[in-house]
Amino acid sequence: MVVALGAALFPQATPGLLEGGHEFYTNAGAFAAREVLETFAGGNVVIGVASAPYKCVPAPSETAMLVHDLLKERGLLDRSTVTLLLPLPRPVPPAPDASAAILAAFAERGIAFRPDSPVASLDPERKVVVVGDGEEIPYDLFLGVPVHAAPAVLQDAGMCVDGYVPVDPLTMETQFPGVYAVGDVAATGTPKAGVFSEGQAIVAAQRIIATLRGEEPSAEYDGRGTCYVEFGHDEVARIDIRFAAGEPPTGSLVGPSPEVTQDKAEFGRSRVKRWFGRDWTGV
Ligand SMILES: Cc1cc2nc3c(=O)[nH]c(=O)nc-3n(C[C@H](O)[C@H](O)[C@H](O)COP(=O)(O)OP(=O)(O)OC[C@H]3O[C@@H](n4cnc5c(N)ncnc54)[C@H](O)[C@@H]3O)c2cc1C
Repeated sequence: MVVALGAALFPQATPGLLEGGHEFYTNAGAFAAREVLETFAGGNVVIGVASAPYKCVPAPSETAMLVHDLLKERGLLDRSTVTLLLPLPRPVPPAPDASAAILAAFAERGIAFRPDSPVASLDPERKVVVVGDGEEIPYDLFLGVPVHAAPAVLQDAGMCVDGYVPVDPLTMETQFPGVYAVGDVAATGTPKAGVFSEGQAIVAAQRIIATLRGEEPSAEYDGRGTCYVEFGHDEVARIDIRFAAGEPPTGSLVGPSPEVTQDKAEFGRSRVKRWFGRDWTGV
């Protein structure tokens, strides 16, 4: 059995988020936020994350840069600010050169970055975001990333420790014989990103196939992944990263450049073709 239920989102765990802000991590939330952005007349935009771990570590940083691009395109920059609040010390902690490039891009664009600042709550009436240490930040538009955890069905089944399913990081086996867990639902030591889910699923599949054939399973997860980061202006960078079990993570940056933008498009196209048997058509 393979458990691959992903991470569930709990926007209601952050008081005021649903009433006074817009979460953009569910499909419905992302489409709703797009409509709000289309009619936004300028002001203080705050992008904030409730807690770590959360899916796709660079996504809130990308959001800040894309919002900046949008405000610029629509001539709203002179009456707007963009602030990013992360619960992390740097935009991409395991990849120092990627963090440095993102921070340089923020400085160039005038995006304010506050590290170690998880969003505790929103006060919709006073239009302030309250961060973990009690500081209040005024906002006109809040785009938020909600609290994540394994779906309730797994919590209720007693499979979770600290919100996720513990696994052997090399084999993806849980403590229950014959049960594997892969992807966002599993505590693998890797970030919550599709590229890691994909690699873990391959290892679980290879081990199950070997077992069914009566062979000793030998496939082990190497913790490698490639993560693309949107810098706006149609420029994309790539972070090649490795989370080897028991070792500090290592990551390096390529780009941003038009070549990596092409590379990302091909990465997406190949997955859509392989998984869904169709061409990428965009949204
Ligand atoms: C804004 C954003 C940007 C991202 N960008 C990237 C990126 O650039 N690169 C990258 O690698 N990753 C990215 N990710 C992360 C990526 O989407 C996830 O890490 C990945 O989808 C996790 O895969 P998964 O199979 O573990 O879980 P999921 O894709 O979440 O799949 C789990 C599935 O299980 C279903 N499910 C849950 N509970 C039940 C139940 N009780 N019964 C039946 N079905 C159930 C869910 O509906 C879902 O379909 C991004 C995520 C977000 C939100």
